[in-house]
Amino acid sequence: MVSNRVKKIIEEYDPSKVTIATLCSHSSMQIFHGARKEGLRSLGIAVDRDTKFYDAFPLARPDEFIRVKDYAEIEDLADELVSRNAIIVPHGSFVEYMGADRFGNFDVPSFGNREVLKWESDRSTQRRWLTSAGIKMPQEIRDAKDIDRPVLVKYSGAKGGRGAFIAKDYMEFKMAIDYTQQHTIQEYVLGTRYYFHYFYSPLRTNGFKLRSGGILEMLSIDRRDESNIDELYKLGSTEELKRLGFFPTFVVTGNVPIVIRESLLPKVFEMGDATVEKSKELFGGLVGPFALETIVTDQLDIKVFEISTRIVAGTNPFVNGSPYSDMIESGLSTGRRIAQEVKLGFQLGRIEEVVS
Ligand code: ATP
Repeated sequence: MVSNRVKKIIEEYDPSKVTIATLCSHSSMQIFHGARKEGLRSLGIAVDRDTKFYDAFPLARPDEFIRVKDYAEIEDLADELVSRNAIIVPHGSFVEYMGADRFGNFDVPSFGNREVLKWESDRSTQRRWLTSAGIKMPQEIRDAKDIDRPVLVKYSGAKGGRGAFIAKDYMEFKMAIDYTQQHTIQEYVLGTRYYFHYFYSPLRTNGFKLRSGGILEMLSIDRRDESNIDELYKLGSTEELKRLGFFPTFVVTGNVPIVIRESLLPKVFEMGDATVEKSKELFGGLVGPFALETIVTDQLDIKVFEISTRIVAGTNPFVNGSPYSDMIESGLSTGRRIAQEVKLGFQLGRIEEVVS
């Protein structure tokens, strides 16, 4: 998993000086807060951004900032970051803004397996991975002319739901589609949206064990608040609203904590387990946090519409633990769990198994 270049770099690191670094955005406060709780140093990369708001949250303020004007400049920070014994925690915005190619070649140790990017960044490879793991996904409709039920049309890349739209037939599709962007069409699954936040540890041995080694944790669950679809119903029927020029949009604005019916937990673990096992077969395995974004139908079927293979912003409500992570260790956030895994990696002399 780890490249020879990164392996050489991490071998030179002084474990007592390790610094958790990430881009100031997304889930950075949780990541810095978690690093501090575990006694690790932290560093925020601020790209043309006001960072004063961190002063309002002293426990989540990184020990140090590095400021640059442009995302392209992050590449030039590699030596500086390595000199600080930095381990990058790539969150969704980090990879999206820096660009998957640039991030892939960035010579700074990064938490997790970067190989996963090739599988995650494209919806068709994601689908291949998940369905071959036996996971149910919303049906894909390849030709828009075949739309015979409500569908959701999505554009490529993690855009926080921006641009996605609902169409009920080909006419509606044609009216809304932007042909200049790559898109996919999925059946619209009606149900409740739950986003499961897992953590796979190849290093720990106590817990929900996987056949191939390591343990799987489920640290929390959230649902995204999406504007304007979540509030649209208050104004009348969608047809009525369309005539007035209001169209449903899916722009993420926040996150709400969720607990799921306990009887569904075996299924939730089965899905996480299968996702990790298949990832080992396909590309050497994913490591650390990942999320399955799902819809639970009234038949209690869980359909996965997307996977995120790093820390998701939906973990942010759980800076001081969740109803699930508190049953592993009190006050455990995903950010803190990452810091623990880094520490454990150094302690066991197995850090190259959790960075790439
Ligand atoms: P992300 O930032 O997670 O990459 P995105 O722009 O790729 O977001 P999705 O997460 O795939 O878009 O979808 C955006 C929203 O649309 C979801 O949060 C969910 O509310 C809704 N959604 C997605 N797929 C479906 C589906 N098949 N049926 C019903 N609703 C869906």
